[in-house]
Amino acid sequence: LVEKVRPGSPAAALGIRPGDRLIAINGQAVQDIFDYYLSLPEPRVDLEIDGPRGRRTVSIRKEPGEDVGLVFGPESFDGLRRCCNRCLFCFIDQLPSGLRPSLYVKDDDYRQSVLTGTYITLTNLTKEDWERILGLHLSPLYVSVHTVDPRRRAYLLGSRKAGEIREQLARLAAAGIEMHCQVVLCRQLNDGAYLEETLEYLSSLWPSVASIAVVPVGLTKYRQYLFPLHPFDRESSRRVLNQVARWQEQLRRRLGTRLVFAADEFYLLAGRPFPPAEEYEGFPQLENGVGVARLFMEEWQREVRRLPGKSESSRLALIVTGKAGYRVLSPLLAQLRARWRNARIELLGLDSRFFGPYITISGLLTGSDICWGLKPRLARLRREQAAVLLPNVALRENREFLDGYTLESVRRELSLPVFAVRPTAKALLRKLEVVLWGSR
Ligand code: SF4
Repeated sequence: LVEKVRPGSPAAALGIRPGDRLIAINGQAVQDIFDYYLSLPEPRVDLEIDGPRGRRTVSIRKEPGEDVGLVFGPESFDGLRRCCNRCLFCFIDQLPSGLRPSLYVKDDDYRQSVLTGTYITLTNLTKEDWERILGLHLSPLYVSVHTVDPRRRAYLLGSRKAGEIREQLARLAAAGIEMHCQVVLCRQLNDGAYLEETLEYLSSLWPSVASIAVVPVGLTKYRQYLFPLHPFDRESSRRVLNQVARWQEQLRRRLGTRLVFAADEFYLLAGRPFPPAEEYEGFPQLENGVGVARLFMEEWQREVRRLPGKSESSRLALIVTGKAGYRVLSPLLAQLRARWRNARIELLGLDSRFFGPYITISGLLTGSDICWGLKPRLARLRREQAAVLLPNVALRENREFLDGYTLESVRRELSLPVFAVRPTAKALLRKLEVVLWGSR
């Protein structure tokens, strides 16, 4: 289904409209979006289109590699592939009821993995899917491995097929497909000796396995009827970091790469500093929360050095973040205050009342958390004409928080100016300047 047609494109010139359907390219029925991408190098494509004006074929002559100009809705033409697992740690199973339906969708689609970097388990692949992946050399893929012990993986994922992971990864590696892997670590389930075995096997597939992220399981307060899982604490996080560091050192000597990286959350839980930027080797697992804090800190230091000195600000800027963001930002604000001595900036790290105490990342802050957290301070904040700055990663499309609050409804409830800011140091510093002094 054509969602948009790029203005000025060959498709627009030929009258293809949003709502039309692409049926075939050069006489071949389209299976998914890869058929469209693969046609791009051609200097001429015949598109069979079905729409309100009936079915027709249009011929497009274009520069080889030039985009025809079609943008498709759900990236994969035949709908999103769902997962067929019942993972003991599934985050979606731990969501409260009553949220918007899209949040409960359990996707496990290899096409999305290639296009957008979402993680897949490989458990729902058919023979045809394998032919497609290998035949088109779809790379890189993002694979949720968790463990390579067949029985343990089948148990963790609640799927017999999950036990085939070693053969599946080896098959992808033999085809030269690049893989970024993740291990969602659960205490006493796939840590310790299981993690040892997993890292041993995955590193044997280097360079096809190009990076491995070890991330702690996310636990919300809605687990009453689910498998009992234990959150990582200081000691268990330190053990994980020690294990990862040992592997990094060994792999660096053996392969010339650290290959495996621990999530920022482990460093925060363990109370250890984040590794220097170069130890993240290009930050291949940022989307997984690996190295985000270090990257932010580096950018912050660079940007703060460039800032001009400022006089006293008349209003207050309140930066609201999660507990994890608070721990990263508070030492950085001390640096900023040395530069902007009289700036009135405060930082508030909120607990997640909505998801419970083990969820600390700002991306999962909800509108109700923010309203609840600011209520006791409201009189003072209004008196001081405070502006509230939130990380925009807490908002989904339409400026909506996970709990259905919107930026507008938070503004209304607080009667304060509230701004959503991109989670980069540059964007935050720029916004602070604007709200504190009106401009640069
Ligand atoms: S693969 Fe597992 S964790 Fe992911 S959505 Fe499915 S059940 Fe949940």
